[in-house]
Amino acid sequence: MRKPIIAGNWKMYKTSDEAVAFVDALAGKLKATDKADTVICPPAPYLAALVEKSKELPVQIGAQTMHEEVEGAFTGEISPTMLKSVGVEFVILGHSERRQYFNETDESVNRKVKSAFEHNLTPIVCVGESLEQREDNATAAIVSEQVKKAFAGISETDASSAIVAYEPIWAIGTGRTATAEDANEVCGQIREVLAELYSESAAQSIRIQYGGSVKPGNIKELLSMSDIDGALVGGASLDPESFAALAEAG
Ligand code: 13P
Repeated sequence: MRKPIIAGNWKMYKTSDEAVAFVDALAGKLKATDKADTVICPPAPYLAALVEKSKELPVQIGAQTMHEEVEGAFTGEISPTMLKSVGVEFVILGHSERRQYFNETDESVNRKVKSAFEHNLTPIVCVGESLEQREDNATAAIVSEQVKKAFAGISETDASSAIVAYEPIWAIGTGRTATAEDANEVCGQIREVLAELYSESAAQSIRIQYGGSVKPGNIKELLSMSDIDGALVGGASLDPESFAALAEAG
């Protein structure tokens, strides 16, 4: 049985005070439960403070991206060892917004996935098709290619602990969720690709999240599907009440 994992991707939202207030508010709402793992991915300036603040809570902290090198002349970038040094455990890699606005490619995502494993960070590897690709019936091909390239050269042991997030681009921030059946179908296809790359048992251990307009009102149905093991949530993760409700549904 895969344990669901609910991750909040705050993107570029919240001031420092708001981030701290969120965790304070969550303290009264988030119950320790074995039902789901929960992760919050705040903007980088708040990572260290939130790691400290979250120590008493059943929640872990993740970064939204990272550079693959440990150090160097890469102005503005943050390395995997820097994330580890402040207690970060997860890192979102290859989010469609990073691919679209910051020139990330399947190849750079692969380098980052390798680096994350080398430094004991758990990557949340994002894949997903555009609306045009979905309308061209290219979803399975696109997503399969993204998964194969992201995991190129990654060992089965490492891959088994990875998290994959299926986020159809047309469902992100649009209020337009994929139907639970459609989302499950693609998550199932992702699992088949992972079984081809590794083994059936590795594929069965990898958690696959769905992301794209997930809210307290639709998460239960999504999580009831056989191949959906959690959610990567943007907008609805910004409010502590709503995040706690999502975590409860896990
Ligand atoms: P929304 O939940 O706001 O649609 O964002 C999804 C997302 O991109 C999470 O990474």
